Amino acid sequence: MLCPDCKTAAPGGRPCPGCGQTVPERETFAGQGGRYLLVLCGLSLVLAALSLLGREIGFGGMSVQRLFTTRWIWIYVALVSTPLLVGLYFWLALREEEIVVTDEGIGRRSRWGDAHLAWANVRGFRHQSLPLRQTRLGRVTWFSRFFPKGGRDPEQILYWPGSTYILEGPPDGDGQPIVMRLEPGTIDDMAWLLALVEERVGPPQED
Ligand SMILES: [Zn+2]
Repeated sequence: MLCPDCKTAAPGGRPCPGCGQTVPERETFAGQGGRYLLVLCGLSLVLAALSLLGREIGFGGMSVQRLFTTRWIWIYVALVSTPLLVGLYFWLALREEEIVVTDEGIGRRSRWGDAHLAWANVRGFRHQSLPLRQTRLGRVTWFSRFFPKGGRDPEQILYWPGSTYILEGPPDGDGQPIVMRLEPGTIDDMAWLLALVEERVGPPQED
């Protein structure tokens, strides 16, 4: 594990050799569904506010009263509520997401399947730059740039979307190798998670 304060490597549960603080035995990371919901709900509110404001300052548009008596109301409601519905979907999808890191290994609980990998069994750690649409969350990942600690490296924010980190393990019962994909935008505090992984298995290989 790593000391959260001075980033010195030390076994979990023991005092850090750098600063004396007890190093945690396990670190838990949650999914970011709530943040997508918050950002997209905000976008819905901004759209609603802009459309009302646009009418007030004379950009035209129908009065609210007239809107309610025509079919346009459905188009308007669909436009304003789409971000909110997308946010709700991702909140549901990422609700169960959880990653736990210990000195022994990494475990993931996820709607896409649970997995556990002991560090001793890790056969590869790779980094791939993928277009956003090929990531698990697709283009919605883009919104994670608004999250605190959303990116691995805030200075390289143009680079990170779509970056995927892949841990490979031994074949499971079906003969398929265990693959754990870590994607920015799905997990809370990705930078710290990757630092803990690198402390155990070294830096990722670039694909
Ligand atoms: Zn320390």
